[in-house]
Amino acid sequence: MVKDSTFNFKEYYYPLVSDKEWLDYRWQLSNRITNLEDLHNYLKINDQDFSYLKKFEDRLNLSITPYYLSLINPLDEFDPIKLQCVPSPLEFQDDEGMEDPLGEESLMNVKDVIHKYPDRILFLVTNQCPVYCRHCFRRNKWGKSLETKIDFQNLIEYIKKNSEVREVIISGGEPLILSSDHLESILKELRKIDQIEVIRIASRVPVVLPQRIDEEIIQILKNYSPIWFITHFNHPGEITELSTKALRKLIENGIAVLNQSVLLKGINDDSKTLEKLFRNLIKIGVKPYYLFQCDPAKGVKHLRTSVFKGIEIIKELNGKLSGIAVPKFAIDLQGGGKVNLEPNSIESINENSIVVKNFQGKLYEYKT
Ligand code: SF4
Repeated sequence: MVKDSTFNFKEYYYPLVSDKEWLDYRWQLSNRITNLEDLHNYLKINDQDFSYLKKFEDRLNLSITPYYLSLINPLDEFDPIKLQCVPSPLEFQDDEGMEDPLGEESLMNVKDVIHKYPDRILFLVTNQCPVYCRHCFRRNKWGKSLETKIDFQNLIEYIKKNSEVREVIISGGEPLILSSDHLESILKELRKIDQIEVIRIASRVPVVLPQRIDEEIIQILKNYSPIWFITHFNHPGEITELSTKALRKLIENGIAVLNQSVLLKGINDDSKTLEKLFRNLIKIGVKPYYLFQCDPAKGVKHLRTSVFKGIEIIKELNGKLSGIAVPKFAIDLQGGGKVNLEPNSIESINENSIVVKNFQGKLYEYKT
């Protein structure tokens, strides 16, 4: 686990702020860094980048919690946390990326409800996040203020008309940015619908704002259990004392936590970094669930790696880690859903036998 340096950062940059305030998610939200001038006080953006980014100020969508900022080493130009949250001039020089790389608009039969697979729907409850991740595939939807309004009736009516729907994934933006009452009202309404068997929440707060996992939110999630909580750690440097505490609180209260990472160039596109991340996650009880190829969203080209790199990394990890620590590597097709890319283990196949390659590259014949 990374030694939690967030309090040292607080003492240095916010000497008048108490530990209690630092641990209060409301304080973190109201002190987000949202402009280049403030960011420059912490990270010293070079003059060339500063004046270039300034030209795009109205489109930057910069938002970083003081907590997440405290994880950055300001002396490292290529710090993996910095690359995930600080805007780069390269975002505005991407002429290949797509506004809607997963084709979600065409799968939205009613506002904010995406229906891609027959048995489950995704409900976008907000377009705001405490930290805007620069690799986000929904970046064309980012909102600026933390106020949010959703039309819940749309969802209820849609579910009732589609009897095959059994699962709702509450997503966004960041669902846990909603007030606790608001989130609770959504869960309460969903639990009243008999056909809904599974509720998932997709949230990055354990990574960027672990203070949000407080007693109040735990109680709400417990009240409507079982809830599957899907989080999004990309780098071992994101696993701190505070984030571990938040994850442990969820797990100890019966909430299953899975992790989805995105393969990101210069951030985690090597087997050593991902091995450390996945080992540290299972150590605290979080199952690495998916490793996604970074989607070709506009502004993200500089963070994308080749698909082959992901396959090679998974191949290496299969030989080093136990099955519970290795996630599935997948691409998400525009309008076509997820496809898992397994390193090819089948050498040949006929009616009587199959020849397979094991994690050491040795061939074995298996009689069918
Ligand atoms: S928290 Fe999720 S939705 Fe928000 S910017 Fe990051 S990846 Fe996108």
